Amino acid sequence: MKITKENGSLRIPDKVTIPFIEGDGIGVEITPICQNVVDQAVNKAYKGKRSIEWKETLGGEKAFKERGDYLPEETVEIFREYLVGIKGPLTTPVGEGFRSLNVALRQTLDLYVCLRPVRWFPGVASPLKEPQKVNMTIFRENTEDIYAGIEWQQGTPEARKVLRFLKEEMGVTQIRFEETSSFGVKPVSKEGTERLVRAAIEYTLKNRLPSLTLVHKGNIMKFTEGSFKRWGYELAEREYSDALADGRLVIQDVIADAFLQNTLLFPERYSVIATLNLNGDYISDQLAAMVGGIGIAPGANINYQSGHAIFEATHGTAPDIAGKNKANPSSLILSSVMMLEYLGWKEAANLITGAMEKAFANGKATHDLARFMHGGQSLGSKQFGETLIQLIN
Ligand code: ATP
Repeated sequence: MKITKENGSLRIPDKVTIPFIEGDGIGVEITPICQNVVDQAVNKAYKGKRSIEWKETLGGEKAFKERGDYLPEETVEIFREYLVGIKGPLTTPVGEGFRSLNVALRQTLDLYVCLRPVRWFPGVASPLKEPQKVNMTIFRENTEDIYAGIEWQQGTPEARKVLRFLKEEMGVTQIRFEETSSFGVKPVSKEGTERLVRAAIEYTLKNRLPSLTLVHKGNIMKFTEGSFKRWGYELAEREYSDALADGRLVIQDVIADAFLQNTLLFPERYSVIATLNLNGDYISDQLAAMVGGIGIAPGANINYQSGHAIFEATHGTAPDIAGKNKANPSSLILSSVMMLEYLGWKEAANLITGAMEKAFANGKATHDLARFMHGGQSLGSKQFGETLIQLIN
C-alpha cells in the first residue's frame, strides 16, 4: 500500500510498498542483501504486523537495456506517487545529452535536503585519535548555489555577452583576465535557505540534539553565503523564539574552512550542520572519511514539505569490484535505517544498527573495512549480510 500525506504528515500503512532502483555495478549485489536485512529486522520487530513490499522500478543500465532510456518517465512518476523510495548507485551515462540520473530525480521531485548522518562504529579504523566524538548530521542544501549549473565557457559568444553585461551594465572592474575567463552564477535564495534551515531546526528539536551550526563563507561571499547565515538566524528568531529562549535550540555559525579544521580537532563541538550545496559536498566527504569512508556513509534526498524522500548509497557503482562479492553493503543498509526512521519504524531501525555495531566490534566486515581493523575478518558481501541477519535474530 502507498504512503500518503494527510494534514501535513505522512500516513504509513503497515504493509508499505517501497519502490526501489537496484542500481548499476555493485548495486546488483548490495540491493538484495540490503532488502533481506531490512525484511528480517522488520519481521523481528513487528512479528508480521508490519512489512515492506519492494516494488522494482527501472533506472540506470537495466532501464536502458529494457526501455532504451536510463531514467524512464514512469520511474520518476512512481517515486512521485509512492513518496518514499530507495536506490542503489547509478552510472552517469557518458556522452552528450545524458543527465545525471541522481540530479534528474533530485530536481524533478525538488528534494531540497541532502541528509547525511555521520557517526563512528567502534571497531572501524579511523584516522582520528578519538573518532567516538564524531556524531553529526549534515543538512546540505540540494537545489541552489554554484551547483545550479549556470555557467558559460570561456571563449563562447555567451561568455563574451556576460562579460559585456558585467562591465557595461553592472560596472564590474575586478575581472583579472577578461578574455580568458569562464563565468558561473551562484544563486542563493531566502526561500531556499529557510526551508533547509527549518528542516535542520526541526530535526535538532525532534531528536533533542545539542546544537545546530550554520556553515558558510559569508566573510568572502557576503550576499550569498553571508545571507544564508543571516536568513538562518532570522528564521530561528522568528519561528523558534521559545526554543531559543529555553535552550532547546542552540544555533551557532562558523566559517567553512575553520569548520573543516575544527571537525578534525574538536568534532564534539558539532551536532547538526546546515550548509550550502558546495560546502556540503566537501564536508560530507571529509566527515565520511573520518569515520570509515564511502562504504558506510548513508544518505537521503528529502523534500520535507511534500514528504518525498529517496534514500541512497552515497558511493558510486565501483566497477572495479562489481560481481566479485566484495562490495560493502553498509552504506545502502544504513540508508535503509534512515528510511525506517523516516517511516517511524524505529524498532526495526535500531535492530539493524545494533547488529552492525556488534559485527564491526567483532571485526566482521567486508574487505574494504576489515583490512584496516585489528583482528579484522574479511567477509564477502553476502556473508556480511548473513552475519547481520544472525545478529538481528
Ligand atoms: P562511479 O563511476 O559510479 O562513480 P567509481 O568507482 O568512480 O564509480 P566509487 O564507486 O565511489 O567511484 O568508488 C571509488 C572507490 O571506492 C573504488 O575503488 C571502489 O571500489 C571503492 N568502493 C566504492 N563503494 C564501495 C563499496 N560499497 N564497498 C567497497 N568498496 C567500495
